[in-house]
Amino acid sequence: MSKVHVFNAGPCLLPQVVLDNAIEAIKDFKGTGVSVLSISHRTPGWDETMNECRALWKELLNIPEGYEVVFLGGGASMEFLYVAMNFLEKKAAYLDTGVWAKKALKEAKGLGEAVAVASSSDKNYCYIPKDYVIPADADYFHITTNNTIYGTELKEDIDSPVPLIADMSSDILSRPVDVSKYTMIYGGAQKNAGPAGVAFAIIKKDALGKVSRYLPTMLDLRTHIDKESMFNTPPVFSIFVMNETLKWVKSMGGVAAVHELNEKKAKTLYDEIDRNPLFVGTAAVEDRSSMNVCFVMAPGKEDLQDEFLSYAKSQGMIGIKGHRSVGGFRASIYNAATQEDVEALVACMQEFEKMHS
Ligand SMILES: *Cc1c(COP(=O)(O)O)cnc(C)c1O
Repeated sequence: MSKVHVFNAGPCLLPQVVLDNAIEAIKDFKGTGVSVLSISHRTPGWDETMNECRALWKELLNIPEGYEVVFLGGGASMEFLYVAMNFLEKKAAYLDTGVWAKKALKEAKGLGEAVAVASSSDKNYCYIPKDYVIPADADYFHITTNNTIYGTELKEDIDSPVPLIADMSSDILSRPVDVSKYTMIYGGAQKNAGPAGVAFAIIKKDALGKVSRYLPTMLDLRTHIDKESMFNTPPVFSIFVMNETLKWVKSMGGVAAVHELNEKKAKTLYDEIDRNPLFVGTAAVEDRSSMNVCFVMAPGKEDLQDEFLSYAKSQGMIGIKGHRSVGGFRASIYNAATQEDVEALVACMQEFEKMHS
């Protein structure tokens, strides 16, 4: 197999050491002679993995006292419902920054009053709205920090007069976050924190229990906090691989160190997009995501799109076709993507430029 560079938007690339340890655990979980796919989640060795995984989340993101980390099934899409179920009493406020934000809002609308305080839908979500007022009577304000499809990212932890809840599916663990500013941070693991099949949530415990509706046992976040994410059979293998991914982040020097590498990768690619006359970026410059880099052919060069895609493919680039709602190209450069991967894509863009000059 020749060298490939994976830029898939999710599930993401995982570091080789994570894959190697996962393969080993499938054969033999911690020397028990039993595959991780067949162990009981009540065996003592499993408990250790769960505890280690929770502890790593807390350590890597510097999660303060009073918060708990839970692992859930159903992905971020199910968490849209968890949020509304557990926090919406009178009114919820959402920032509409794209398809995922809209889907989150839809779940809240099904359960009560929910409003979008601002939207960037007028420009196909190529920017993050800045001028908006968060209603002081909202139970919470919901944001999507990284808009995977459009390549926009809200990189600062904003101040909110009401509890702040964030879908960080696609930029969690890519940069330091001030968790104390949030009531809940959640997301699917498969964009940066591990494989598909598990979602994470970081929850401020004393914010729960304030809604009057009946909460089905599985949809009550307190169930998962109380039972340490083992009320029912957890996605054992996905959690195992997530734990390995967190161990890898730690081995890289932690989130701040990984952030530095991410900024360098993003700059390398955006610099080439800005320099190369064949390409233009689609996201507003000040809102550019460091995780998903979206670009299209420059005006007048649109007919080269398919040719670039097939050329890039021939050079080993995988997953750079843009989301169908934006078109063009998207290179997702999550934590596990390397500077070398990014430079290979840049070389490909430069070679393509030469072919067409
Ligand atoms: C991928 C993604 C989702 C959906 O995640 P699922 O786990 O597939 O439900 C939600 N929000 C954002 C920002 C995403 O990137």
